Amino acid sequence: MTGMNKNDHEHRGFMLDVCRHFMPLDEIKKLLQAAAVLKLNRMHWHLTDDQGWRIEIRKYPLLTEKGAVRGDSFFGVTPEAERNSGYYTQEEIRDLVAYAKDLGIEIIQEIEIPGHAAAMLAAYPQFGCRRGKTGVWEEKVEISGGIFPALVCAGKRETLDFLEDILDEVTELFPFPAVHIGGDEALKFRWRRCPDCQKRIREKGLQSEDDLQRDLLMEVGEYLAGKGRKTIVWNDVLAGGLLPAYFIVQQWMGGRQETRAFMQNGGTVIRSDTDSFYLDYCYGRIDVRRIWETPRVPEYARGLEDRILGVECPLWTERIASLERAAWQLFPRLTAVSVKMSGEELPWENFREKVKTLEAELETKTGLKGAPEELWDMDPETAEADRKAETQTIFSGKAEAYEQMERKIVSLDAAERLAESLGIDRSFVQRGGDIIWTEIHGQEVPEDDDGAAILIRQLMIASDSRKYGAWKDIPEEIWMETMKCFPRFISEHRRSYGWDGFDRYGWTTRQIGAKLFRIGELEYELAEDEEGRKEIGLHIPSDAKLEAERMNASLKEADAFIRERFPGWAGVPKTCESWLLSPALKDLLPEGSRILRFQEAFELEETYPEDDAALEWVFYVAEGQRKELNISRLPEDTSLQRKMKAMLMEGRKPGAAKGVLVNSEFIIHNS
Ligand SMILES: [Zn+2]
Repeated sequence: MTGMNKNDHEHRGFMLDVCRHFMPLDEIKKLLQAAAVLKLNRMHWHLTDDQGWRIEIRKYPLLTEKGAVRGDSFFGVTPEAERNSGYYTQEEIRDLVAYAKDLGIEIIQEIEIPGHAAAMLAAYPQFGCRRGKTGVWEEKVEISGGIFPALVCAGKRETLDFLEDILDEVTELFPFPAVHIGGDEALKFRWRRCPDCQKRIREKGLQSEDDLQRDLLMEVGEYLAGKGRKTIVWNDVLAGGLLPAYFIVQQWMGGRQETRAFMQNGGTVIRSDTDSFYLDYCYGRIDVRRIWETPRVPEYARGLEDRILGVECPLWTERIASLERAAWQLFPRLTAVSVKMSGEELPWENFREKVKTLEAELETKTGLKGAPEELWDMDPETAEADRKAETQTIFSGKAEAYEQMERKIVSLDAAERLAESLGIDRSFVQRGGDIIWTEIHGQEVPEDDDGAAILIRQLMIASDSRKYGAWKDIPEEIWMETMKCFPRFISEHRRSYGWDGFDRYGWTTRQIGAKLFRIGELEYELAEDEEGRKEIGLHIPSDAKLEAERMNASLKEADAFIRERFPGWAGVPKTCESWLLSPALKDLLPEGSRILRFQEAFELEETYPEDDAALEWVFYVAEGQRKELNISRLPEDTSLQRKMKAMLMEGRKPGAAKGVLVNSEFIIHNS
């Protein structure tokens, strides 16, 4: 394999966030001097975010009058009242761009679109989404770290004019041939509810809100292309589909398949992978040795090395409020990255020596002091302690409350997306989402009379579990098949009540806890009784197709899945407790019917004459509705329904039975 040599790295840089904490110009100049010592040639200047708008735009003075001012903030242990406000005038920016140029460094600005827009919209809320029929969402400059739902409205022409006006001034200030317009971490909560955004989706035949983001950024990109500029975006934008090759993608996290496809399609990429190049992370996560170990070509770029423009190391400043702290985080890791980028394959000791020499030069020339040598190659225990300390910092004091709020908002957005991919009716989902939204913000919560909020709460737990918890490594197909219980329960509710609702709390919590899986036609639950005896509960969902081939395929797949993921459960007996095993079925169905044959696969152990789960199976009556049911009003379209109804009217019970699966397969003879 040919490694990249120095000439391949046309982009060698670092990113400086001046939104979370403001940095005076003379300090930025110091960092530029250091970058020049390391022969870096790019500084990506992150100028706008939820916590501050830092660039003077003459046409829209409120951007800095309101958007650059923030009160006490809560990012963890960082002093709360320091460097929260401030912005750079156009004159200062011109001066800095020229200063950098003399050092051989180009400055690339970043204006975040469409998300991380709270400060922008705090100044000009009219360019945000509509709330209800007449209002717009009120925004404020955020005072903690995190991801917030403020998005520019993608459905209004005025918003695009506004963005273009801003970019007109921006391109005047920054001569670099590419313009960064962000595109990361945009929660689509507002867009899903905005009539203007939804109108644009309909009119342009877009697939989703992700597609809308891509469409909006494409439009901005075209505008910039008209000025002869390329457009840089974070890799999140590719979630909406491919981008033309005049875009440059900055890869930081996730979406590697999409990034690869973009590269295969002629696109170019800047590497900023969180696991190697995020220099605001603690040394316990990324030390110098880790940078040395980082593969020269990441997995997603194999065979496409020439599509990599270079490497850029972000420095996000939630917990960085001084030049000293910034230097400590940046050096010697940025130094190590520059050595790494030089393309020379060095043994660790030589690499370390080279970093040390460069560090000494850097300190002499700039006075900036990096982290001490004992942090360069940390032993696992020290690293672990360092990571713990970092987490405690993030979750300290008031910051924790904000962190939790943000997590809930992110999780709510994920739940709404999951509901959408499951095909659950959007207005029902949004009603639930609105209730949770209100709850998160500590406002009075409207009544949840149809279970919409319960549904969302469960989907939130489910999507969290998929991301961080028990469901994390379960194959996608099993995950989706299992989650389809949600739309099934809603449609069963609709069939029995005539309107959408959700009343299956107990069942779904078992499923979202990754104890209950749907595999093909059947569901399997890993259950243990009080004495620790294991049992695999086999459930027959109401939409199962009782065909031998399908059920046996499910069994086979389930056995393989359990052997692989839950080896302790392999060979544990499968028991089924179901109305479909009930001896009463004999009276209801013709001799030799398929369901009765299916029953023969089980050795029946017990019968429960009082069980009424049959109502769901035969009449689609939801659990919560069974108690106060008027049996005479039940529909009777099939002979099974007719017979069962007659039986119930006589006061007899269909009952359920419990059986152990005796054969490893179901045999169903067609009668
Ligand atoms: Zn909108």
